[in-house]
Amino acid sequence: MREILQIKTRKRTEFLDITRDVQDLLSEEGIKEGVMVLYSRHTTTGLTINENEEGLVADMEQILWKLVPSADYRHDRIDNNADSHLRSLILGQHLVIPFSNNILDLGSWQRIFFVELDGPRTRDIIVRVIRD
Ligand code: ZN
Repeated sequence: MREILQIKTRKRTEFLDITRDVQDLLSEEGIKEGVMVLYSRHTTTGLTINENEEGLVADMEQILWKLVPSADYRHDRIDNNADSHLRSLILGQHLVIPFSNNILDLGSWQRIFFVELDGPRTRDIIVRVIRD
């Protein structure tokens, strides 16, 4: 199964908890056992799994800016968003999540985040469900 999860972001940098949307897609499919692949089609976004605690989300955003400060990058000469691409490099573009009995195999504190790094924009995440 292939679905596109469309997300409208509202800020330049934003951590969006998409766990519910992703689980809803899986529930609609009704497939019991397998793996789900989430893949972002964009070069200035990220996908990651972590805890959705307000302070931690702010910390995660802050560390991305510390690791990749705004600077005079070569790509800025044509697009002015090199920092967004470089932050994306740290997070990666895809996740593979196993599921069992039609429920994502996430730990108690694990949530799925889509990370906007050059918003606001409309973004597409490809979702594939692969049956065991
Ligand atoms: Zn660019």
